Order: sequence, then structure tokens, then C-alpha cells
Amino acid sequence: MKYTIAVLPGDGVGPEVMAEGIKVLQAVSKKFGHEFQLHRGVVGGAAIDAHKVALPQDVVPMCKGCHAVLFGAVGGPKWDDPTAPVRPEQAILGLRKGLNLYANLRPVQVYPMLEDATTLKPEVIHGVDMIVVRELTGGIYFGRPQRRWRSARGRQAVDTLRYSEKEIERVLRTGFELARMRSKKLTSVDKANILDSSRLWRQIATELGGEYPEVRLEHVLVDTAAMRLVRDPASFDVIVTENMFGDILTDEAAVLGGSMGMMASASLGGSTSAFASKRRVRRMGFYEPIHGTAPDIAGKNLANPIGMIRSVALMFQYSLALPREAKAIEDAVFQVLQQGYRTGDIGSRGQRVVGTREMGDQIAGALAGTSTVASAPRRR
Ligand code: NAD
Repeated sequence: MKYTIAVLPGDGVGPEVMAEGIKVLQAVSKKFGHEFQLHRGVVGGAAIDAHKVALPQDVVPMCKGCHAVLFGAVGGPKWDDPTAPVRPEQAILGLRKGLNLYANLRPVQVYPMLEDATTLKPEVIHGVDMIVVRELTGGIYFGRPQRRWRSARGRQAVDTLRYSEKEIERVLRTGFELARMRSKKLTSVDKANILDSSRLWRQIATELGGEYPEVRLEHVLVDTAAMRLVRDPASFDVIVTENMFGDILTDEAAVLGGSMGMMASASLGGSTSAFASKRRVRRMGFYEPIHGTAPDIAGKNLANPIGMIRSVALMFQYSLALPREAKAIEDAVFQVLQQGYRTGDIGSRGQRVVGTREMGDQIAGALAGTSTVASAPRRR
């Protein structure tokens, strides 16, 4: 089968980790006999330098014509002037909007061999394996009015938190569908004791729960969820929440994984029914590591490429409906970590600390011989 993939490396460490993601993609191609056609695009700071815009006009149509999009990261000190009319982040917002990516998925999994790499006690994070689903295109980041003004009482500002039933329902369905495929437990996070938008969210979640009787639904207030994430993170399986709560909770949850460099994400549009992976339906998606351009280590072969490589695995799972290939990548990552290979961000004395390219080589090599590799623990 032939697949077309849009490749948008971006800035800083983006191109470095992307090169390793593509290396692994090519290893999958060789092992499983798939053909990948890559369409490269320039976005972010690199596009500002070349075209004076962060998202050249042809990029969104090019992505729409592909099965999936792989994205590195954008931004950096060179383009950091807050008063500049053109900023690298405009590429991300334009892509999310242009591709209608309303659900952001961040798997948080603690590898047993990295339990001591996080700031929490190993016994607290042992067994953590969750997915946080964040609504991505609505809520307070997009609501209008949004403005500042001067008044007789001094400076004032307003932001607007608005959600429609449709926006809430489609992301909640994504959560229910994922929960159905995993341990059948869904935590819906809101602030229903204070916010009307959250009361609507909770009401719709409860109504939808009737359509998913096999899924155990719990409602948790966002402040309690933030506390539980560091006190008892293994008690979560699938979390679903609105945009701003998700923005904050996903970064908190990312700490559990040991390093920003380890974490992958998927942003999905399209129909929620495409999640029923047993039916192998393909769904347009956008896949990126959660980290930024890491200017402090860019160009030094120091970045951890595992977040990018695991994003490629998510692409196989959700957009290409090839779960065997996704599992082969996860197994290869697991094997290489088990053999003691580490990039600097997760390494310590006594381990084989390697660079970005060498880590990519190891994972691609392990993938080529996956018949003999140790297997990552099965998802719940
Ligand atoms: P960052 O994620 O780039 O870096 C934070 C810290 O994590 C740094 O110490 C960095 O060295 C480390 N780190 C990040 N990725 C790593 C990796 N793969 N391996 C090892 N260590 C890694 O966040 P920041 O410093 O706040 O932002 C830097 C730039 O990236 C800014 O311009 C910001 O706007 C941009 N940014 C872009 C995205 C995106 O494109 N999605 C996301 C976040 C930040």
C-alpha cells in the first residue's frame, strides 16, 4: 500500500528529531513492505525567513492531500519579538484550524526502566499508562470578545469561554471511543461547580454516557484532577477535558514520562467513529512531539528523538490504521531503552548515553529485527 505523508520539520531541534522519525518510517517501510511518499513543507521561523509568513499558502492544501502530517516544532529566539506581526506559532494555529484538528491526544506512559528519571517517587508513577484528550479548537483561547481597554477604573481585559454542544460532543465522543478500546474508564474533567460552560460539558458527558454503558464515567473537578495527577496518577486511564484545562493538565502529566523529549502527541479531526480501530478506518491526523524547538541544545545532536518516533507510531495507529506497525515501533523503543541506551535528558551514569542520530539508528535497527526484541507491555 502507498501512503502520502506531509513532513513539516520546522525550526531548532525540529529537523533533527524529524530526521530520526523518517529513519524509523523507512525501517517500517522496509520491514512491512509499505511505500511512503513524503511531501515536505517549510513552516514556522524557517518560512518567515524564506517567505515572510509562518504558514505559506500551499501548506494546508498539501497536508489535506496527504494521509497524515508529521510536524517537528517551530519558534526560537530569532523570531521571539512579541511585537512582530508575524510569529512562528501562527503556523501551528493555522494548521490546527485549516485541518480542523479538534482533539489532541497525549499518551502518558512510564517506562519501567525510566521510573527513576522523573521528579516523582517510583512507587507513585509505577504503572502509569493514560491518554489525555484535550479539546483543541474552542474555549477561552478562541472565544470573542477578547480584548484590553482603559477605563475610568483603570486597565481592564476580557476573554470569553464559549463552547457549543457540537464542539463538546465530538471531543467527548473521542474520549468515550478511546476508553472503550482501553480499560473502559473515562474521567471527564471540568469546573462544573463554578462555570456554566462546564455544567453544559458535564451534562453532555452524562447524556453520552448512556450510549456507552460499558464505559465507567467519572466527573472530576480540574483542581482535584491536578492534585490526583501527582498523588495517584495510575488511577487515570482516559482523561477528556476542554482546551485550557487540557493545556495545563497535559504539561503536568508530561512530567510523569521523565522528559519532554519522550512524549508524543496526535491531533485528530474527522469523524469520531473512525476510532473504532477494529474496523481499520483511516483518519486524518497531525503528529508531533510535545516539546518545542529547544534552542539551548539545537544543532548539537543532543535532542531526544523518541517523542518524534513515538509520534510516528501514533500515526500508524490512528491515521493509517496499521496497529501492528505502531506496536513494532513501540517495541523497538522499549528494547533500546532496556538495553540501556539513553539520550542526555534521560541518561545517568552507567548507561549508554548517545546522541540524537545514534538513538534513531538504534531504534531503526531494533525495528529491523523485531522478531527477537523484548515486547513493550500491552496497553490497557
Ligand atoms: P522546549 O520544549 O523547546 O524546551 C524546554 C526544555 O526541554 C529545554 O531545556 C530543552 O532543552 C528541553 N527539551 C525539549 N525538547 C527536548 C528533546 N527532544 N530532548 C531533550 N531535551 C529537550 O520549550 P521552550 O524552551 O519553552 O521553547 C523553545 C521554543 O520552542 C520557543 O520559541 C517556543 O515558542 C517553541 N515551542 C514550540 C512548540 C511547538 O512547535 N509545538 C511547543 C513548545 C514551544
